[in-house]
Amino acid sequence: MRALCGASDEGALPTAVGSMRSTGIFDGLAALGLSISEEQGGGSPMSAETLSYAIDEHDHLIRVDQGYYRFAEENGWNEAATSLGRSLWDYVAGHEMVKLQRLLVRRIRDGVGDVELPFRCDGPEVRREMDIRIVARPGGRVVLFSARLRAQEERDLPQRLLDPATPRSGEVLEMCGWCDRFKVDAEWIEVEEAARRLGLFNRSELPAVSHGICPDCNEMLLAA
Ligand SMILES: [Zn+2]
Repeated sequence: MRALCGASDEGALPTAVGSMRSTGIFDGLAALGLSISEEQGGGSPMSAETLSYAIDEHDHLIRVDQGYYRFAEENGWNEAATSLGRSLWDYVAGHEMVKLQRLLVRRIRDGVGDVELPFRCDGPEVRREMDIRIVARPGGRVVLFSARLRAQEERDLPQRLLDPATPRSGEVLEMCGWCDRFKVDAEWIEVEEAARRLGLFNRSELPAVSHGICPDCNEMLLAA
């Protein structure tokens, strides 16, 4: 979820760098005290790269698994150790994204039960396609989030727009917090294309990134 990949300047977890190591989904779920159908963990040998976390009825993080800590560590996010007890929404960048995800969690609690959605969790050097499953625990207010890596591809060139360490100018570029595309000339495009169109390759400072949501993802989250 974006809480675990959203770049940077707004206090969310930094953009993911490197690759997630293996954590068994069932280990994670067991740690959360939750059970889930077998489809999520079985099957492909690639399915082991996961992280999970759970919130209570106040949307406070009550459990996180090893994948969560490992992911944070690999991405230099030092606040992970103090995540427990904090509001999940402190870690989701962008007001619109928080609003949409809160609505989604409410619908899941109120009877939708569970949803599974694709999202992107890109880093400067990798393009990552992931799925997140959000499940309300039967009879309770606890909601579990399990994210799983579906595909990962190295980029031809590192994309500094996605690197929190890159110096930023006063300009601001909007990024969709769900699919990681950037808004340029009213179009939502991949980071490589955005860098190309804006001629960012030789600049020492790049635009700052603000998190919004593109129309496609907005529609998907509202329909979930
Ligand atoms: Zn999007």
